[in-house]
Amino acid sequence: MHTTDVAIVGGGLGGSLAAAVLGRAGVNCALVDPRETYPEDFRCEKLDGPQTAILQKTGLADAVRRASTFDGACWIARLGRVIEKKPGDQLGIFYADLVNTIRREIPASVPFIRAKAQSIVPGAERQAITLVGGERIDARLVVLANGLSVSVRDSLRLKREIVSRRHSVAIGFTIKPSAGRQFSFPALTYYPEWPTAKAALLTLFPIGAAMRANLFVYREFEDPWLQQMRTDPLGTLFALMPNLRPLLGDFSVEGRVEIRPIDLYVTHGHRQPGVVLIGDAFATSCPAAGTGALKVLTDVERLCNHHVPQWLQTPGMAEAKIAAFYGDPVKQACDDFAARKAVCLKAFSLDATLAGHAYRLVRFVGQVGRGALRAARRSAAGAVAAQGVENALAGSQ
Ligand SMILES: Cc1cc2nc3c(=O)[nH]c(=O)nc-3n(C[C@H](O)[C@H](O)[C@H](O)COP(=O)(O)OP(=O)(O)OC[C@H]3O[C@@H](n4cnc5c(N)ncnc54)[C@H](O)[C@@H]3O)c2cc1C
Repeated sequence: MHTTDVAIVGGGLGGSLAAAVLGRAGVNCALVDPRETYPEDFRCEKLDGPQTAILQKTGLADAVRRASTFDGACWIARLGRVIEKKPGDQLGIFYADLVNTIRREIPASVPFIRAKAQSIVPGAERQAITLVGGERIDARLVVLANGLSVSVRDSLRLKREIVSRRHSVAIGFTIKPSAGRQFSFPALTYYPEWPTAKAALLTLFPIGAAMRANLFVYREFEDPWLQQMRTDPLGTLFALMPNLRPLLGDFSVEGRVEIRPIDLYVTHGHRQPGVVLIGDAFATSCPAAGTGALKVLTDVERLCNHHVPQWLQTPGMAEAKIAAFYGDPVKQACDDFAARKAVCLKAFSLDATLAGHAYRLVRFVGQVGRGALRAARRSAAGAVAAQGVENALAGSQ
């Protein structure tokens, strides 16, 4: 029997980050996961500026920054034309590296229990966790961060409601420019030309020396197009986005093409004493909208910086205490934003009506305008800097 104040079940992004934040704050906690090192897994592969800003509040941003590749700038393109060059804010990092980097920041005082939780019996005072193999953990609070896994769900009578089955499909692969060439862009986000492409966007960003591609499409998993993408990624990609080729030049696809269907679900029955659900264990969001990691980071930041320290100050772990987390306005706003963005992005990407085309045109013009303004500001700043250097040189002569 292991006794602790907080047992964190699941050591992916959410659970590992929670263990690092609580452990660093001196909270008596333990992390339970069957795998000592998080394995290679196609999941979130970059963090954007708003996500990094939340990570900053957990104290873990610097460690993640050191392990990631900063994009420097990101070009936005549509219809084969670069319409905006945005200052960079993306950190490229493979998911396993992200999780393992965070795990290395967990203080040694936090035990890692290498096991799978089998069942949880919740209570208003203590929680009883039984591990596969029969060992038990007794805790004041369980943070359930077991992601997509359905383990322990029945013992807690949790119900998953699929709100959008096969909402989108995430495709990941690595591209390499042909010998002697370099990609002309530091990072690139490309929007499909027409709704018939059934795609949200393609994003290209560096991870180390590699250029990683994430393509998000709206297709049935049985669609033969996905098989074509697996066997002939280049031909299939260019058929989907014909004007993309001149921007990319000659390149090849390295390694496997990973394809993952995404269901959007929410969990019911989560309001109970002693157990709090975070990240994908609570609800998933669409990767095309880039809000999955945002939700996980927001959950952990709100839970571990604000709620858990307060909950531990008074006896008991009744449902009313836990409810404060689910009612947290910052968490609720983030969950609502993620749910809305998933639906809106899909509707926008597939809308073949006249109104849809008009809306896309307005956005295109807006982006061209923003890009031109940014370029004008950059060249004005460059002229001022050049004048300053000239003045300084003249003064020193
Ligand atoms: C293909 C794909 C692409 C994505 N791309 C993006 C993106 O570009 N941007 C973005 O913001 N989001 C993206 N997401 C979403 C994001 O990756 C997830 O929201 C996030 O990884 C969820 O983290 P988590 O900690 O909740 O779960 P996970 O990282 O899945 O962690 C769950 C952990 O629980 C452990 N576990 C499971 N069962 C048990 C048990 N019984 N006992 C103990 N441990 C257990 C597992 O071993 C695992 O370590 C993507 C998701 C997918 C699938």
